[in-house]
Amino acid sequence: MAENEHSDLWESHNKMVLEPLETNDPEVYEIIRKEKHRQKYGLELIASENFASCAVLQALGSCLNNKYSEGYPGQRYYGGTEFIDELEILCQKRALEAYELDPQKWGVNVQPYSGSPANFAVYTALVEPHGRIMGLDLPDGGHLTHGFMTDKKKISATSIFFESMPYKVNPDTGYIDYDRLQENARLFHPKLIIAGVSCYSRNLDYARMRAIADENGAVLMADMAHISGLVSAGVVPSPFDHCDVVSTTTHKTLRGCRAGMIFYRKGVRNVDPKTAKETLYNYESLINQAVFPGLQGGPHNHAIAGVAVTLKQAMTPEFKLYQKRVVANCQALSAALIELGYHIVTGGSDNHLILVDLRSKKTDGGRAEKVLEACAIACNKNTCPGDKSALRPSGLRFGTPALTSRGFREDDFKKVAHFLHRGIELTLDIQNDQSPKATLKEFKEKLRSDDKYREKISTLKEEGDVTIC
Ligand SMILES: *Cc1c(COP(=O)(O)O)cnc(C)c1O
Repeated sequence: MAENEHSDLWESHNKMVLEPLETNDPEVYEIIRKEKHRQKYGLELIASENFASCAVLQALGSCLNNKYSEGYPGQRYYGGTEFIDELEILCQKRALEAYELDPQKWGVNVQPYSGSPANFAVYTALVEPHGRIMGLDLPDGGHLTHGFMTDKKKISATSIFFESMPYKVNPDTGYIDYDRLQENARLFHPKLIIAGVSCYSRNLDYARMRAIADENGAVLMADMAHISGLVSAGVVPSPFDHCDVVSTTTHKTLRGCRAGMIFYRKGVRNVDPKTAKETLYNYESLINQAVFPGLQGGPHNHAIAGVAVTLKQAMTPEFKLYQKRVVANCQALSAALIELGYHIVTGGSDNHLILVDLRSKKTDGGRAEKVLEACAIACNKNTCPGDKSALRPSGLRFGTPALTSRGFREDDFKKVAHFLHRGIELTLDIQNDQSPKATLKEFKEKLRSDDKYREKISTLKEEGDVTIC
């Protein structure tokens, strides 16, 4: 009897593991369905987001999820890894090809789970505990992992376990202040300098940063997380010409699944002209050991498969066309907003994003972001150069990669600019309808509860659907 009971249970167990998500877990299925609808019908302007291709998502949702393979190809701590080895080697090969790197001079680690762990692996590999790091400050367009801290608190683990001295942009021009970076580097003597940005619309001067690193015997690391797709298509300058190490994510402009990669120089570093003695780079073993066993466990093989597919797509002429359109669209969006009277930090863009400074419009990023979100336009508030408080950022960051994937062209982005303008005008209307001292919370409350504004928002949302979606 008991046996029979168990056999029924086992039968239903087997049914459970084979059942599609829709019937097996309708609750999660419904949330995914709603999110898919949001992605499809909203205007996605978040600069770090994109739509991964069908093939990438298929690889990501594959049985490769099931396999443990701690170690590296040929040296694993688990059996049954012959196909995983084949996959990881293929992914490495494609990564070098996608950036036109000579395998004698460059190597790559494709195991980092994402951009942040990739960066931390580089620091632990190449900088001793409490060694010195300089990256662009977060409020100036850098990334948290580049060593963010405030006067009161060390926020990023990078600033807790290493000593961080951020560099900044010139508050008047919005461009990176390389002269100040050079002066401060001479005083601080960093072990590592990071050339990388999350909210900066201009190309970086890698040659200048190389010279500053050399003056101080520092490693120059590029973090091309945002621009890795643009780099592979050759539409922005490549950091590989000047840097020792290059980290990246794979899900932003590169349009793959969420993961990270670390490229490092290898082989001969220099030859002594007198003795002809060669010095070699020592990054390879340090970086590989930092990723595993230093920081991570089993590689996410499904993600590595997704990255391999991403890189194959990145080498096609179709992908180059896509990246060209990303940049052209960004310039069209920027020009249209300037025409509508907006101030764009640095006056424009070389890449896929712009930062709009709303101070001249007498509002701020937090309020405008909330109104645009209610109108199904996704973007994010961001500090602008010279902002007094990080708590009330005065800008909005807009990126073109996601909508360009959906086929938007320059004319569509002109329409997008008009929708943004109407959303920002509505922000001003609501703001002017309140006491100048009203908090963001009170602003959101009014946005939610006042019928007059709710109606305007649904009109804007519907018009957006009809006009461009
Ligand atoms: C997005 C980003 C990262 C971090 O990537 P995650 O995958 O979110 O951890 C690192 N560096 C820069 C410059 C980024 O923009």
